[in-house]
Amino acid sequence: MALAFDEFGRPFILLRQQEEKSRLRGLDAQKANVSAGKAVARILRTSLGPKGMDKMLQSPDGDVTITNDGATILEQMDVDNQIAKLMVELSRSQDYEIGDGTTGVVVMAGSLLEQAEKLLERGIHPIRIAEGYEMASRIAVEHLERIAQKFEFGLNDLEPLVQTCMTTLNSKMVNRCKRRLAEIAVKAVLAVADLERKDVNLDLIKVEGKVGGRLEDTELIYGITVDKDMSHPQMPKRIENAKIAILTCPFEPPKPKTKHKVDIDTVEKFQTLRQQEQKYFDDMVQKCKDVGATLVICQWGFDDEANHLLMHRNLPAVRWVGGVELELIAIATGGRIVPRFQELTPEKLGKAGLVREKSFGTTQDRMLYIEHCANSRAVTIFIRGGNKMMIEETKRSIHDALCVARNLIRNNSIVYGGGAAEIACSIAVDAAADRYPGVEQYAIRAFADALDAIPMALAENSGLQPIETLSAVKNQQIRENNPNCGIDCNDVGTNDMREQNVFETLIGKQQQILLATQVVKMILKIDDVISPSEY
Ligand code: ADP
Repeated sequence: MALAFDEFGRPFILLRQQEEKSRLRGLDAQKANVSAGKAVARILRTSLGPKGMDKMLQSPDGDVTITNDGATILEQMDVDNQIAKLMVELSRSQDYEIGDGTTGVVVMAGSLLEQAEKLLERGIHPIRIAEGYEMASRIAVEHLERIAQKFEFGLNDLEPLVQTCMTTLNSKMVNRCKRRLAEIAVKAVLAVADLERKDVNLDLIKVEGKVGGRLEDTELIYGITVDKDMSHPQMPKRIENAKIAILTCPFEPPKPKTKHKVDIDTVEKFQTLRQQEQKYFDDMVQKCKDVGATLVICQWGFDDEANHLLMHRNLPAVRWVGGVELELIAIATGGRIVPRFQELTPEKLGKAGLVREKSFGTTQDRMLYIEHCANSRAVTIFIRGGNKMMIEETKRSIHDALCVARNLIRNNSIVYGGGAAEIACSIAVDAAADRYPGVEQYAIRAFADALDAIPMALAENSGLQPIETLSAVKNQQIRENNPNCGIDCNDVGTNDMREQNVFETLIGKQQQILLATQVVKMILKIDDVISPSEY
Protein backbone atom coordinates (compact mmCIF):
# COMPACT_ATOMS: atom_id res chain seq x y z
CA MET A 1 0.00 0.00 0.00
CA ALA A 2 1.34 3.44 -0.83
CA LEU A 3 0.12 6.98 -0.63
CA ALA A 4 0.26 9.02 -3.83
CA PHE A 5 -1.01 12.37 -5.07
CA ASP A 6 -2.81 13.14 -8.29
CA GLU A 7 -2.16 16.15 -10.50
CA PHE A 8 -4.41 18.33 -8.34
CA GLY A 9 -2.61 17.41 -5.20
CA ARG A 10 -5.35 15.16 -3.87
CA PRO A 11 -4.06 12.14 -2.04
CA PHE A 12 -5.07 8.61 -2.95
CA ILE A 13 -4.03 5.19 -1.88
CA LEU A 14 -2.48 2.62 -4.17
CA LEU A 15 -3.35 -0.94 -3.31
CA ARG A 16 -1.31 -3.75 -4.72
CA GLN A 17 -4.48 -5.64 -5.60
CA GLN A 18 -3.12 -6.99 -8.82
CA GLU A 19 -0.58 -9.07 -7.01
CA GLU A 20 -3.24 -10.57 -4.85
CA LYS A 21 -4.94 -12.11 -7.83
CA SER A 22 -3.86 -15.54 -8.80
CA ARG A 23 -3.02 -15.89 -12.40
CA LEU A 24 -2.38 -18.75 -14.78
CA ARG A 25 -0.91 -18.12 -18.16
CA GLY A 26 -0.19 -19.90 -21.43
CA LEU A 27 -0.02 -23.64 -21.50
CA ASP A 28 -0.59 -23.84 -17.76
CA ALA A 29 -3.93 -22.11 -18.17
CA GLN A 30 -4.96 -24.45 -20.95
CA LYS A 31 -3.92 -27.53 -19.05
CA ALA A 32 -5.71 -26.46 -15.88
CA ASN A 33 -8.87 -25.69 -17.83
CA VAL A 34 -8.76 -28.93 -19.74
CA SER A 35 -8.42 -30.95 -16.58
CA ALA A 36 -11.32 -29.13 -14.93
CA GLY A 37 -13.54 -29.89 -17.92
CA LYS A 38 -12.43 -33.51 -17.96
CA ALA A 39 -13.22 -33.88 -14.28
CA VAL A 40 -16.83 -32.89 -14.87
CA ALA A 41 -17.18 -35.17 -17.85
CA ARG A 42 -15.75 -38.07 -15.87
CA ILE A 43 -18.60 -37.79 -13.39
CA LEU A 44 -21.21 -38.16 -16.10
CA ARG A 45 -19.43 -40.86 -18.05
CA THR A 46 -20.74 -43.66 -15.87
CA SER A 47 -24.31 -42.43 -16.29
CA LEU A 48 -24.38 -42.85 -20.05
CA GLY A 49 -26.48 -45.45 -21.74
CA PRO A 50 -29.10 -48.04 -20.83
CA LYS A 51 -26.88 -49.57 -18.18
CA GLY A 52 -25.67 -46.22 -16.88
CA MET A 53 -25.61 -45.56 -13.17
CA ASP A 54 -27.78 -43.05 -11.37
CA LYS A 55 -26.46 -40.28 -9.18
CA MET A 56 -27.78 -39.28 -5.83
CA LEU A 57 -27.51 -35.63 -4.99
CA GLN A 58 -28.35 -33.91 -1.78
CA SER A 59 -29.19 -30.24 -1.75
CA PRO A 60 -28.05 -27.95 1.10
CA ASP A 61 -31.52 -28.16 2.64
CA GLY A 62 -31.54 -31.93 2.63
CA ASP A 63 -33.64 -32.68 -0.45
CA VAL A 64 -32.46 -35.79 -2.20
CA THR A 65 -32.54 -36.21 -5.97
CA ILE A 66 -31.79 -39.46 -7.71
CA THR A 67 -31.32 -39.08 -11.41
CA ASN A 68 -29.40 -40.08 -14.48
CA ASP A 69 -30.23 -36.98 -16.47
CA GLY A 70 -27.01 -35.15 -17.27
CA ALA A 71 -28.50 -31.67 -17.14
CA THR A 72 -30.05 -32.28 -13.72
CA ILE A 73 -26.90 -33.81 -12.25
CA LEU A 74 -24.78 -30.88 -13.31
CA GLU A 75 -27.38 -28.33 -12.31
CA GLN A 76 -27.45 -29.64 -8.78
CA MET A 77 -23.74 -30.21 -8.38
CA ASP A 78 -23.01 -26.64 -7.35
CA VAL A 79 -19.65 -26.39 -9.06
CA ASP A 80 -17.29 -23.56 -8.29
CA ASN A 81 -14.80 -23.75 -11.11
CA GLN A 82 -15.53 -21.49 -14.06
CA ILE A 83 -14.69 -24.10 -16.66
CA ALA A 84 -16.86 -26.63 -14.90
CA LYS A 85 -19.63 -24.05 -15.09
CA LEU A 86 -19.14 -23.92 -18.85
CA MET A 87 -19.78 -27.66 -18.96
CA VAL A 88 -22.94 -27.15 -16.93
CA GLU A 89 -24.03 -24.53 -19.43
CA LEU A 90 -23.23 -26.92 -22.25
CA SER A 91 -25.54 -29.53 -20.88
CA ARG A 92 -28.19 -26.91 -20.24
CA SER A 93 -28.09 -25.65 -23.80
CA GLN A 94 -28.50 -29.18 -25.14
CA ASP A 95 -31.47 -29.54 -22.80
CA TYR A 96 -32.92 -26.25 -23.96
CA GLU A 97 -32.49 -26.85 -27.67
CA ILE A 98 -33.12 -30.56 -27.91
CA GLY A 99 -34.18 -31.85 -24.51
CA ASP A 100 -32.31 -35.13 -24.74
CA GLY A 101 -28.68 -36.21 -25.03
CA THR A 102 -27.52 -34.06 -22.14
CA THR A 103 -25.17 -36.68 -20.76
CA GLY A 104 -23.77 -37.58 -24.16
CA VAL A 105 -22.84 -34.00 -24.99
CA VAL A 106 -20.74 -33.60 -21.84
CA VAL A 107 -19.01 -36.95 -22.30
CA MET A 108 -18.23 -35.94 -25.87
CA ALA A 109 -16.79 -32.59 -24.74
CA GLY A 110 -14.72 -34.29 -22.05
CA SER A 111 -13.31 -36.68 -24.56
CA LEU A 112 -12.44 -33.85 -26.98
CA LEU A 113 -10.60 -32.13 -24.14
CA GLU A 114 -8.72 -35.29 -23.31
CA GLN A 115 -7.51 -35.59 -26.89
CA ALA A 116 -6.65 -31.91 -26.96
CA GLU A 117 -4.47 -32.36 -23.91
CA LYS A 118 -2.41 -34.96 -25.72
CA LEU A 119 -1.96 -32.65 -28.69
CA LEU A 120 -0.95 -29.77 -26.43
CA GLU A 121 1.69 -32.01 -24.89
CA ARG A 122 3.03 -32.66 -28.34
CA GLY A 123 3.44 -28.95 -28.83
CA ILE A 124 0.60 -28.24 -31.21
CA HIS A 125 -0.77 -24.76 -30.83
CA PRO A 126 -4.24 -24.56 -29.28
CA ILE A 127 -5.57 -22.47 -32.15
CA ARG A 128 -4.59 -25.17 -34.63
CA ILE A 129 -6.33 -27.74 -32.49
CA ALA A 130 -9.44 -25.57 -32.33
CA GLU A 131 -9.43 -25.14 -36.11
CA GLY A 132 -8.92 -28.82 -36.70
CA TYR A 133 -11.83 -29.62 -34.38
CA GLU A 134 -14.02 -27.17 -36.25
CA MET A 135 -13.26 -28.81 -39.60
CA ALA A 136 -13.79 -32.26 -38.15
CA SER A 137 -17.12 -31.32 -36.60
CA ARG A 138 -18.34 -30.09 -39.96
CA ILE A 139 -17.31 -33.36 -41.58
CA ALA A 140 -19.09 -35.31 -38.85
CA VAL A 141 -22.29 -33.31 -39.08
CA GLU A 142 -22.39 -33.70 -42.85
CA HIS A 143 -21.74 -37.39 -42.56
CA LEU A 144 -24.62 -37.73 -40.10
CA GLU A 145 -26.86 -36.12 -42.69
CA ARG A 146 -25.72 -38.72 -45.19
CA ILE A 147 -26.36 -41.75 -43.00
CA ALA A 148 -29.61 -40.42 -41.54
CA GLN A 149 -32.82 -42.13 -42.45
CA LYS A 150 -36.23 -40.63 -42.81
CA PHE A 151 -39.05 -42.47 -41.29
CA GLU A 152 -42.63 -41.94 -42.04
CA PHE A 153 -45.20 -42.01 -39.35
CA GLY A 154 -48.88 -41.57 -39.70
CA LEU A 155 -51.51 -40.91 -37.13
CA ASN A 156 -52.40 -44.58 -37.43
CA ASP A 157 -48.86 -45.81 -37.26
CA LEU A 158 -47.18 -44.34 -34.25
CA GLU A 159 -44.79 -47.21 -33.75
CA PRO A 160 -41.62 -45.46 -35.04
CA LEU A 161 -42.25 -42.49 -32.78
CA VAL A 162 -42.87 -44.73 -29.81
CA GLN A 163 -39.72 -46.72 -30.52
CA THR A 164 -37.56 -43.60 -30.59
CA CYS A 165 -39.03 -42.33 -27.33
CA MET A 166 -38.36 -45.76 -25.86
CA THR A 167 -34.67 -45.43 -26.72
CA THR A 168 -34.59 -42.28 -24.65
CA LEU A 169 -36.32 -43.95 -21.73
CA ASN A 170 -34.04 -47.01 -21.93
CA SER A 171 -31.44 -45.42 -19.75
CA LYS A 172 -33.79 -43.99 -17.17
CA MET A 173 -34.93 -45.37 -13.88
CA VAL A 174 -38.40 -45.78 -15.34
CA ASN A 175 -37.37 -48.19 -18.08
CA ARG A 176 -39.50 -50.90 -16.49
CA CYS A 177 -42.49 -49.11 -17.89
CA LYS A 178 -40.94 -47.53 -20.94
CA ARG A 179 -43.45 -48.72 -23.50
CA ARG A 180 -46.38 -47.20 -21.65
CA LEU A 181 -44.60 -43.94 -20.92
CA ALA A 182 -43.37 -43.65 -24.50
CA GLU A 183 -46.91 -44.17 -25.78
CA ILE A 184 -48.22 -41.55 -23.38
CA ALA A 185 -45.54 -39.08 -24.47
CA VAL A 186 -46.26 -39.64 -28.17
CA LYS A 187 -50.02 -39.33 -27.72
CA ALA A 188 -49.59 -36.18 -25.65
CA VAL A 189 -47.34 -34.57 -28.23
CA LEU A 190 -49.67 -35.51 -31.09
CA ALA A 191 -52.65 -34.13 -29.18
CA VAL A 192 -51.10 -30.67 -29.07
CA ALA A 193 -49.05 -30.83 -32.27
CA ASP A 194 -49.63 -28.61 -35.22
CA LEU A 195 -48.79 -31.11 -37.94
CA GLU A 196 -49.12 -28.59 -40.76
CA ARG A 197 -46.63 -26.19 -39.27
CA LYS A 198 -44.64 -29.12 -37.93
CA ASP A 199 -44.39 -27.67 -34.50
CA VAL A 200 -45.43 -28.58 -30.99
CA ASN A 201 -46.07 -26.24 -28.12
CA LEU A 202 -44.90 -28.25 -25.14
CA ASP A 203 -46.40 -25.66 -22.78
CA LEU A 204 -49.77 -27.20 -23.54
CA ILE A 205 -48.65 -30.43 -21.92
CA LYS A 206 -48.86 -30.24 -18.18
CA VAL A 207 -46.93 -32.86 -16.26
CA GLU A 208 -48.36 -33.48 -12.82
CA GLY A 209 -47.52 -36.06 -10.23
CA LYS A 210 -49.01 -37.45 -7.07
CA VAL A 211 -47.34 -39.80 -4.67
CA GLY A 212 -49.10 -43.15 -4.45
CA GLY A 213 -50.13 -45.89 -6.83
CA ARG A 214 -47.76 -47.50 -9.26
CA LEU A 215 -45.79 -46.15 -12.16
CA GLU A 216 -48.04 -48.22 -14.41
CA ASP A 217 -51.00 -46.12 -13.27
CA THR A 218 -49.54 -43.07 -14.95
CA GLU A 219 -52.11 -41.77 -17.39
CA LEU A 220 -52.76 -39.23 -20.07
CA ILE A 221 -55.71 -36.96 -19.48
CA TYR A 222 -57.21 -35.03 -22.35
CA GLY A 223 -57.82 -31.99 -20.23
CA ILE A 224 -56.61 -30.63 -16.94
CA THR A 225 -56.51 -31.83 -13.37
CA VAL A 226 -57.15 -29.82 -10.26
CA ASP A 227 -56.05 -31.01 -6.86
CA LYS A 228 -59.46 -30.37 -5.27
CA ASP A 229 -62.67 -32.24 -4.68
CA MET A 230 -66.39 -31.51 -4.65
CA SER A 231 -67.32 -29.39 -1.67
CA HIS A 232 -69.90 -31.88 -0.39
CA PRO A 233 -69.48 -35.64 -0.36
CA GLN A 234 -73.00 -36.17 -1.66
CA MET A 235 -72.56 -34.09 -4.74
CA PRO A 236 -72.32 -36.02 -8.03
CA LYS A 237 -68.87 -37.33 -8.84
CA ARG A 238 -69.35 -37.23 -12.57
CA ILE A 239 -70.83 -34.48 -14.66
CA GLU A 240 -71.19 -34.85 -18.38
CA ASN A 241 -71.34 -31.85 -20.70
CA ALA A 242 -70.62 -29.60 -17.80
CA LYS A 243 -71.32 -25.88 -17.99
CA ILE A 244 -68.98 -24.31 -15.52
CA ALA A 245 -69.38 -21.03 -13.69
CA ILE A 246 -65.92 -19.80 -12.70
CA LEU A 247 -66.30 -17.40 -9.80
CA THR A 248 -63.96 -15.20 -7.85
CA CYS A 249 -66.76 -13.95 -5.61
CA PRO A 250 -67.57 -15.73 -2.38
CA PHE A 251 -70.81 -17.53 -1.66
CA GLU A 252 -71.66 -15.47 1.35
CA PRO A 253 -73.76 -12.45 2.27
CA PRO A 254 -71.99 -9.17 1.58
CA LYS A 255 -70.19 -7.67 4.53
CA PRO A 256 -70.19 -3.89 4.92
CA LYS A 257 -66.71 -2.47 4.69
CA THR A 258 -67.21 -0.15 7.68
CA LYS A 259 -67.52 -1.38 11.24
CA HIS A 260 -71.06 -2.28 12.09
CA LYS A 261 -73.00 -3.62 14.96
CA VAL A 262 -76.19 -5.61 14.88
CA ASP A 263 -78.25 -5.73 18.03
CA ILE A 264 -80.23 -8.88 18.23
CA ASP A 265 -82.33 -8.92 21.34
CA THR A 266 -85.33 -10.90 20.29
CA VAL A 267 -85.88 -14.25 18.70
CA GLU A 268 -87.80 -12.58 15.86
CA LYS A 269 -84.88 -10.38 14.97
CA PHE A 270 -82.60 -13.37 14.85
CA GLN A 271 -85.05 -15.24 12.66
CA THR A 272 -85.30 -12.32 10.25
CA LEU A 273 -81.53 -12.06 10.00
CA ARG A 274 -81.26 -15.73 9.33
CA GLN A 275 -83.93 -15.68 6.72
CA GLN A 276 -82.26 -12.80 4.99
CA GLU A 277 -78.92 -14.57 4.95
CA GLN A 278 -80.57 -17.64 3.57
CA LYS A 279 -82.24 -15.57 0.89
CA TYR A 280 -78.84 -14.26 -0.16
CA PHE A 281 -77.53 -17.76 -0.60
CA ASP A 282 -80.68 -18.76 -2.34
CA ASP A 283 -80.46 -15.89 -4.78
CA MET A 284 -76.84 -16.68 -5.55
CA VAL A 285 -77.56 -20.33 -6.22
CA GLN A 286 -80.61 -19.39 -8.25
CA LYS A 287 -78.55 -16.98 -10.34
CA CYS A 288 -76.10 -19.75 -11.16
CA LYS A 289 -78.93 -22.10 -12.03
CA ASP A 290 -80.68 -19.48 -14.13
CA VAL A 291 -77.74 -19.02 -16.45
CA GLY A 292 -77.55 -22.79 -16.86
CA ALA A 293 -74.45 -23.66 -14.85
CA THR A 294 -74.13 -27.31 -13.85
CA LEU A 295 -70.91 -26.84 -11.88
CA VAL A 296 -69.52 -23.96 -9.88
CA ILE A 297 -65.80 -23.51 -9.42
CA CYS A 298 -65.11 -20.93 -6.78
CA GLN A 299 -61.93 -19.19 -5.74
CA TRP A 300 -63.23 -18.71 -2.22
CA GLY A 301 -64.67 -20.98 0.35
CA PHE A 302 -68.22 -21.04 1.56
CA ASP A 303 -69.60 -22.08 4.87
CA ASP A 304 -71.52 -25.23 5.64
CA GLU A 305 -74.87 -23.61 5.17
CA ALA A 306 -74.11 -22.54 1.62
CA ASN A 307 -72.55 -25.89 0.96
CA HIS A 308 -75.63 -27.71 2.16
CA LEU A 309 -77.85 -25.51 0.06
CA LEU A 310 -75.75 -26.07 -3.03
CA MET A 311 -76.02 -29.80 -2.51
CA HIS A 312 -79.75 -29.51 -1.92
CA ARG A 313 -80.32 -27.50 -5.04
CA ASN A 314 -78.28 -30.01 -6.97
CA LEU A 315 -75.53 -27.62 -7.98
CA PRO A 316 -72.14 -29.28 -7.52
CA ALA A 317 -69.40 -26.93 -6.43
CA VAL A 318 -65.65 -26.87 -5.89
CA ARG A 319 -64.12 -24.41 -3.49
CA TRP A 320 -60.70 -22.94 -2.74
CA VAL A 321 -59.38 -23.28 -6.27
CA GLY A 322 -56.17 -21.26 -6.70
CA GLY A 323 -55.95 -18.27 -9.00
CA VAL A 324 -53.55 -19.90 -11.46
CA GLU A 325 -55.67 -23.01 -11.75
CA LEU A 326 -58.77 -20.92 -12.15
CA GLU A 327 -57.20 -19.14 -15.05
CA LEU A 328 -56.13 -22.39 -16.62
CA ILE A 329 -59.64 -23.78 -16.29
CA ALA A 330 -61.06 -20.61 -17.85
CA ILE A 331 -58.68 -20.84 -20.81
CA ALA A 332 -59.24 -24.54 -21.36
CA THR A 333 -63.01 -24.49 -21.08
CA GLY A 334 -63.45 -21.21 -22.93
CA GLY A 335 -65.18 -19.64 -19.95
CA ARG A 336 -64.70 -16.27 -18.30
CA ILE A 337 -63.75 -15.61 -14.73
CA VAL A 338 -66.70 -13.85 -13.11
CA PRO A 339 -66.05 -11.50 -10.21
CA ARG A 340 -69.70 -10.76 -9.32
CA PHE A 341 -72.87 -12.81 -9.37
CA GLN A 342 -74.72 -10.05 -11.20
CA GLU A 343 -72.32 -10.41 -14.11
CA LEU A 344 -72.96 -14.08 -14.64
CA THR A 345 -74.35 -14.77 -18.11
CA PRO A 346 -74.68 -18.01 -20.11
CA GLU A 347 -71.87 -17.00 -22.51
CA LYS A 348 -69.42 -16.71 -19.66
CA LEU A 349 -69.75 -20.35 -18.69
CA GLY A 350 -66.94 -22.72 -19.54
CA LYS A 351 -67.70 -26.01 -21.26
CA ALA A 352 -66.20 -29.42 -20.68
CA GLY A 353 -67.28 -32.81 -22.01
CA LEU A 354 -66.68 -34.52 -18.70
CA VAL A 355 -65.82 -33.45 -15.20
CA ARG A 356 -65.14 -36.26 -12.80
CA GLU A 357 -63.78 -36.70 -9.35
CA LYS A 358 -61.31 -39.48 -8.80
CA SER A 359 -60.25 -40.80 -5.46
CA PHE A 360 -56.93 -42.39 -4.71
CA GLY A 361 -56.25 -45.27 -2.42
CA THR A 362 -58.06 -45.51 0.85
CA THR A 363 -57.20 -41.96 1.79
CA GLN A 364 -59.33 -38.90 1.43
CA ASP A 365 -57.18 -37.93 -1.51
CA ARG A 366 -59.33 -36.84 -4.41
CA MET A 367 -58.74 -34.94 -7.60
CA LEU A 368 -60.91 -33.33 -10.18
CA TYR A 369 -60.42 -34.16 -13.84
CA ILE A 370 -61.78 -31.69 -16.34
CA GLU A 371 -61.73 -33.43 -19.68
CA HIS A 372 -62.65 -32.83 -23.31
CA CYS A 373 -62.60 -29.09 -22.83
CA ALA A 374 -64.24 -26.89 -25.41
CA ASN A 375 -61.45 -24.59 -26.28
CA SER A 376 -58.19 -26.27 -25.75
CA ARG A 377 -56.13 -29.19 -26.82
CA ALA A 378 -54.19 -29.00 -23.57
CA VAL A 379 -53.40 -32.36 -22.04
CA THR A 380 -52.05 -33.48 -18.69
CA ILE A 381 -49.72 -36.35 -17.99
CA PHE A 382 -50.53 -37.56 -14.54
CA ILE A 383 -47.69 -39.48 -12.98
CA ARG A 384 -48.05 -41.92 -10.10
CA GLY A 385 -45.25 -43.48 -8.16
CA GLY A 386 -44.07 -44.76 -4.85
CA ASN A 387 -42.28 -41.68 -3.62
CA LYS A 388 -41.49 -38.11 -4.47
CA MET A 389 -38.04 -38.87 -5.86
CA MET A 390 -39.47 -41.41 -8.26
CA ILE A 391 -42.10 -38.97 -9.45
CA GLU A 392 -39.56 -36.22 -9.99
CA GLU A 393 -37.29 -38.53 -11.97
CA THR A 394 -40.26 -39.73 -14.02
CA LYS A 395 -41.12 -36.12 -14.77
CA ARG A 396 -37.61 -35.56 -16.06
CA SER A 397 -37.67 -38.72 -18.13
CA ILE A 398 -41.06 -37.86 -19.61
CA HIS A 399 -39.70 -34.42 -20.45
CA ASP A 400 -36.91 -36.06 -22.46
CA ALA A 401 -39.36 -38.34 -24.23
CA LEU A 402 -41.68 -35.42 -25.04
CA CYS A 403 -38.77 -33.46 -26.47
CA VAL A 404 -37.73 -36.38 -28.64
CA ALA A 405 -41.25 -36.79 -30.00
CA ARG A 406 -41.43 -33.06 -30.68
CA ASN A 407 -38.07 -33.10 -32.46
CA LEU A 408 -39.26 -35.94 -34.66
CA ILE A 409 -42.34 -34.00 -35.65
CA ARG A 410 -40.14 -31.04 -36.53
CA ASN A 411 -37.72 -33.21 -38.45
CA ASN A 412 -38.34 -36.88 -38.98
CA SER A 413 -34.74 -37.90 -39.64
CA ILE A 414 -33.09 -40.38 -37.35
CA VAL A 415 -29.69 -41.91 -36.87
CA TYR A 416 -28.96 -45.13 -35.05
CA GLY A 417 -28.05 -45.05 -31.37
CA GLY A 418 -25.89 -47.26 -29.22
CA GLY A 419 -22.83 -45.38 -30.48
CA ALA A 420 -23.46 -46.44 -34.10
CA ALA A 421 -23.68 -42.88 -35.38
CA GLU A 422 -20.54 -41.87 -33.52
CA ILE A 423 -18.54 -44.79 -34.87
CA ALA A 424 -19.71 -44.04 -38.41
CA CYS A 425 -18.67 -40.40 -37.99
CA SER A 426 -15.37 -41.42 -36.49
CA ILE A 427 -14.57 -43.55 -39.53
CA ALA A 428 -15.57 -40.74 -41.89
CA VAL A 429 -13.58 -38.10 -40.03
CA ASP A 430 -10.52 -40.32 -39.84
CA ALA A 431 -10.67 -40.97 -43.56
CA ALA A 432 -11.04 -37.26 -44.27
CA ALA A 433 -8.00 -36.36 -42.17
CA ASP A 434 -5.66 -37.52 -44.94
CA ARG A 435 -6.95 -34.80 -47.21
CA TYR A 436 -5.62 -32.08 -44.92
CA PRO A 437 -1.92 -31.48 -45.33
CA GLY A 438 -1.43 -29.13 -42.37
CA VAL A 439 -1.05 -29.68 -38.69
CA GLU A 440 -4.85 -29.70 -38.47
CA GLN A 441 -4.88 -33.30 -39.54
CA TYR A 442 -3.63 -34.28 -36.11
CA ALA A 443 -6.54 -32.47 -34.54
CA ILE A 444 -8.95 -34.05 -37.01
CA ARG A 445 -7.66 -37.52 -36.16
CA ALA A 446 -7.93 -36.66 -32.49
CA PHE A 447 -11.55 -35.66 -33.08
CA ALA A 448 -12.21 -39.06 -34.61
CA ASP A 449 -10.70 -40.71 -31.53
CA ALA A 450 -12.83 -38.52 -29.30
CA LEU A 451 -15.99 -39.67 -31.07
CA ASP A 452 -15.10 -43.22 -30.06
CA ALA A 453 -15.49 -42.22 -26.43
CA ILE A 454 -19.29 -42.54 -26.57
CA PRO A 455 -19.43 -46.18 -27.73
CA MET A 456 -16.55 -46.96 -25.36
CA ALA A 457 -18.41 -45.48 -22.42
CA LEU A 458 -21.56 -47.39 -23.41
CA ALA A 459 -19.58 -50.63 -23.58
CA GLU A 460 -17.79 -49.97 -20.32
CA ASN A 461 -20.99 -49.14 -18.50
CA SER A 462 -22.56 -52.35 -19.74
CA GLY A 463 -19.73 -54.44 -18.41
CA LEU A 464 -18.10 -55.12 -21.79
CA GLN A 465 -14.45 -54.73 -22.69
CA PRO A 466 -14.43 -51.20 -24.12
CA ILE A 467 -11.51 -51.36 -26.55
CA GLU A 468 -12.20 -54.83 -27.85
CA THR A 469 -15.89 -54.18 -28.31
CA LEU A 470 -15.27 -50.91 -30.07
CA SER A 471 -12.73 -52.32 -32.45
CA ALA A 472 -14.96 -55.26 -33.27
CA VAL A 473 -17.92 -53.00 -34.02
CA LYS A 474 -15.83 -50.56 -36.00
CA ASN A 475 -14.40 -53.38 -38.02
CA GLN A 476 -17.91 -54.67 -38.70
CA GLN A 477 -19.07 -51.23 -39.85
CA ILE A 478 -16.19 -50.97 -42.31
CA ARG A 479 -16.46 -54.58 -43.49
CA GLU A 480 -20.19 -54.56 -44.02
CA ASN A 481 -20.36 -50.87 -44.93
CA ASN A 482 -23.19 -50.66 -42.47
CA PRO A 483 -23.42 -47.53 -40.29
CA ASN A 484 -26.09 -49.12 -38.10
CA CYS A 485 -23.76 -51.27 -36.03
CA GLY A 486 -23.49 -50.17 -32.44
CA ILE A 487 -22.85 -51.49 -28.97
CA ASP A 488 -25.16 -54.25 -27.87
CA CYS A 489 -25.56 -52.92 -24.36
CA ASN A 490 -28.49 -55.09 -23.37
CA ASP A 491 -26.95 -58.27 -24.69
CA VAL A 492 -29.73 -58.82 -27.20
CA GLY A 493 -27.48 -60.77 -29.51
CA THR A 494 -27.22 -58.39 -32.45
CA ASN A 495 -25.14 -55.30 -33.07
CA ASP A 496 -27.52 -53.94 -35.63
CA MET A 497 -29.26 -51.05 -33.95
CA ARG A 498 -31.88 -51.06 -36.65
CA GLU A 499 -32.98 -54.49 -35.52
CA GLN A 500 -32.83 -53.39 -31.90
CA ASN A 501 -34.91 -50.31 -32.69
CA VAL A 502 -32.45 -48.00 -30.97
CA PHE A 503 -32.90 -44.64 -32.68
CA GLU A 504 -31.91 -41.11 -31.94
CA THR A 505 -32.94 -37.94 -33.66
CA LEU A 506 -30.61 -36.54 -36.27
CA ILE A 507 -30.88 -32.99 -34.98
CA GLY A 508 -30.14 -34.15 -31.44
CA LYS A 509 -26.96 -35.91 -32.49
CA GLN A 510 -25.82 -33.05 -34.68
CA GLN A 511 -26.44 -30.58 -31.92
CA GLN A 512 -24.40 -32.72 -29.52
CA ILE A 513 -21.38 -32.63 -31.80
CA LEU A 514 -21.71 -28.94 -32.60
CA LEU A 515 -22.21 -27.81 -29.02
CA ALA A 516 -19.42 -29.97 -27.64
CA THR A 517 -16.99 -28.69 -30.28
CA GLN A 518 -17.99 -25.11 -29.61
CA VAL A 519 -17.32 -25.34 -25.90
CA VAL A 520 -14.04 -27.17 -26.32
CA LYS A 521 -12.86 -24.55 -28.79
CA MET A 522 -13.79 -21.87 -26.32
CA ILE A 523 -11.84 -23.56 -23.53
CA LEU A 524 -8.79 -24.04 -25.74
CA LYS A 525 -8.68 -20.39 -26.67
CA ILE A 526 -8.30 -19.24 -23.09
CA ASP A 527 -4.65 -18.58 -22.31
CA ASP A 528 -4.90 -16.38 -19.26
CA VAL A 529 -6.93 -17.08 -16.17
CA ILE A 530 -7.12 -14.26 -13.68
CA SER A 531 -9.06 -14.94 -10.54
CA PRO A 532 -9.29 -13.28 -7.16
CA SER A 533 -7.01 -14.76 -4.56
CA GLU A 534 -8.28 -17.11 -1.94
CA TYR A 535 -8.69 -14.63 0.90
P1 ADP B 1 -28.45 -38.79 -22.60
O1 ADP B 1 -28.79 -38.03 -21.37
O2 ADP B 1 -27.27 -38.22 -23.32
O3 ADP B 1 -29.61 -39.09 -23.47
P2 ADP B 1 -28.53 -41.51 -21.78
O4 ADP B 1 -28.04 -41.97 -20.48
O5 ADP B 1 -30.00 -41.41 -22.04
O6 ADP B 1 -27.86 -40.14 -22.09
O7 ADP B 1 -27.89 -42.46 -22.85
C1 ADP B 1 -28.14 -42.33 -24.19
C2 ADP B 1 -27.22 -43.22 -24.98
O8 ADP B 1 -27.56 -44.58 -24.78
C3 ADP B 1 -27.37 -42.94 -26.44
O9 ADP B 1 -26.11 -42.91 -27.04
C4 ADP B 1 -28.19 -44.13 -26.94
O10 ADP B 1 -27.91 -44.40 -28.27
C5 ADP B 1 -27.75 -45.21 -26.02
N1 ADP B 1 -28.75 -46.29 -25.89
C6 ADP B 1 -30.01 -46.19 -25.44
N2 ADP B 1 -30.64 -47.38 -25.45
C7 ADP B 1 -29.74 -48.27 -25.91
C8 ADP B 1 -29.78 -49.69 -26.16
N3 ADP B 1 -30.87 -50.42 -25.92
N4 ADP B 1 -28.67 -50.26 -26.63
C9 ADP B 1 -27.57 -49.55 -26.87
N5 ADP B 1 -27.47 -48.23 -26.65
C10 ADP B 1 -28.54 -47.58 -26.18
